[in-house]
Amino acid sequence: MNLNTLYKKALNLLPLTKDEALLLYNDLPPNQLFSLAQQIRFIKVPQKRVSWQIDRNINYTNVCISGCLFCNFHCKLSEREKSYTIRTDELKEKILQLRQLGGDQILLQGGLHPQYNIHYYEELLSTIKSIDPNIKLNAFGPPEISHIAHLSSLTIKDTLKRLVKAGLDTLPGAGAEILSDRVRKLLSPGKPSVTEWCNVMEEAHNMGLGTTATMVYGHIETLEERIDHLFTIRELQAKKMAKNPGFRAFICWPMQIEGTKLNARFITSKTTSLEHLKMVAISRIILNNITHIQASWLTVGKEIGMLALHSGADDMGSIMIEENVVSSAGADHKMGSEEIQRTIIDAGFEPWLRGQDYKPRESSVSLL
Ligand code: SF4
Repeated sequence: MNLNTLYKKALNLLPLTKDEALLLYNDLPPNQLFSLAQQIRFIKVPQKRVSWQIDRNINYTNVCISGCLFCNFHCKLSEREKSYTIRTDELKEKILQLRQLGGDQILLQGGLHPQYNIHYYEELLSTIKSIDPNIKLNAFGPPEISHIAHLSSLTIKDTLKRLVKAGLDTLPGAGAEILSDRVRKLLSPGKPSVTEWCNVMEEAHNMGLGTTATMVYGHIETLEERIDHLFTIRELQAKKMAKNPGFRAFICWPMQIEGTKLNARFITSKTTSLEHLKMVAISRIILNNITHIQASWLTVGKEIGMLALHSGADDMGSIMIEENVVSSAGADHKMGSEEIQRTIIDAGFEPWLRGQDYKPRESSVSLL
């Protein structure tokens, strides 16, 4: 199939094969790839508006047995000076600060703690909901769910059910990195396999939980493995029941490796801005069954984030109060509510504040 025919096939939202997707990525001039992705963006999200969100990270513990080579955040339980678990008074303070800034969601993530089973997590969620019942909890991710299920001798389904009962609202697509067992064995051998990651997401989708999907690229993976990853996500999304939200958004970003074991042990090439924009574009083209694609400014900076809005992305993500994980490995970009809105306007779009469900929220932080 020639490039012209492939271009039309993608624009008609017909599912591409992996070879076809690779051909588009490699052979279509970048400006045409971005234009194709942007046309699909406007089919999926017709308005010339870009969503953004106010949420905050809370990393409830840094104790983790996984030992991912790219992670500077975690430590062992035996590292008494460094290890922590969040206290209730700290939670209260963080929630208050989030509310003062107009936020309504917490991204709650931590390590795979060797001693915490389902009871700890139920308590954590219900404590937050008792502090503020209206706060939305976007919590954990497939590795944590799999770990909790294992430690608690529960099925994935029962683990999710109990966490939802305790206050879990949505499940982030954390810990996907690259969905290839070859890559996972090298980078994060303590994390669940591709099949386990997918099983957690499938259970979540079957229960009607909203989720997101992610990809962290630019380390030891091949381009083919990135494309395989996108197809795995597309296939998972295709399995969900129409009435359920499934993956509400897809977010990809280049891995931050500064000072990590990964940086010391492997020769890794830093990804370029052009590569990020091409990844955003090909994600939009392949994942034509997912509505929202994020620009991922946090790791690539606001200028590249603006260009991503012209390469298929329609969501600027969150201002991310207190991000600890990627910032500990070299990403130091920050934006407040005013700046993120100005950035969206400067890119030629209308900013609108969204909630966890990607629907507009009444803005109590109208700054412009
Ligand atoms: S990335 Fe997550 S799972 Fe991996 S070591 Fe860090 S905290 Fe643990």
